[in-house]
Amino acid sequence: MAQKPNTIAAFFKRFPDEETCLQHLFNVRFGQDFSCPKCERPSKWFRIKAERAYSCQWCGHHLHPTVGTPFEKTRTPLQLWFYAIFLFTTTRNGVAAKELERQLGVTYKTAWRMADLIRKHMADVDGDGILGGAGKVVEADETFIGGHKAGGQGGKGKTVVFGMLERGGHVVTEVVQNRRGDNLLPHVADHVAPGSEIHTDEHRGYVDLAFEGYQHRKVNHSAGEYTRGNVSVNSLEGFWAQLKRSIQGTHIHVSPKHLWKYAKEAEFRFNRRSRPETMLGDLLTTFGPLPQQSD
Ligand SMILES: [Zn+2]
Repeated sequence: MAQKPNTIAAFFKRFPDEETCLQHLFNVRFGQDFSCPKCERPSKWFRIKAERAYSCQWCGHHLHPTVGTPFEKTRTPLQLWFYAIFLFTTTRNGVAAKELERQLGVTYKTAWRMADLIRKHMADVDGDGILGGAGKVVEADETFIGGHKAGGQGGKGKTVVFGMLERGGHVVTEVVQNRRGDNLLPHVADHVAPGSEIHTDEHRGYVDLAFEGYQHRKVNHSAGEYTRGNVSVNSLEGFWAQLKRSIQGTHIHVSPKHLWKYAKEAEFRFNRRSRPETMLGDLLTTFGPLPQQSD
């Protein structure tokens, strides 16, 4: 899809019915002349009316375009799924299950499950690229989310989210057990290219960064210092603020078990902030590897 249908009218023009949605999935995942996995011949594929499937012109083998997508194990119409995804791409703070329930006319349980699978799909589509590199600045910081106000920093029920953000570029988040260095540094090694300049606050968990092939620069938050020259974690603070607005404003409460998906959802949006018009197309054309198909 070249352009987003960025209005409801454009969306329904592009996906007017169930058949169009299934055909779209077939086209982006297989397409006509796709070589049959069974007889191995390039085939014309014919729609089978009785199920969400297409059949090989030569041997009758079936392809199911929803297998391996978030829509695989569902009786909910594809058009409602696509519309739910559309809603996720047109909001800044996310979509509550209650809102999906109301707009789609499905049960709360179905709405919750759809939102959950859409967030996981956003996480998959976003992926986790490598941040930084020589001459680049990556900010690293942790934040506490959820729990009860009385708990204070690190209090009961709070979840620690660790973030790494290439300045002017992408962010990657990871939910961690606690903010000790041995929980944080392996994620830096996974996601940040050696030679990067990493900016953090004075937290002790970061002291070993300099020994891991990074240039480490610090600001001292506890002394009220938020920038020193170009050293800061202010871009990441902006991302945390957005994530917290989304969770507190839209979802009220998110359990620790599910928090990573909300962080990934915010990450997906943040990483496309300069090209929001690509969000819907990305989510409706990017799926995992084609699974083995059976009759
Ligand atoms: Zn065949």
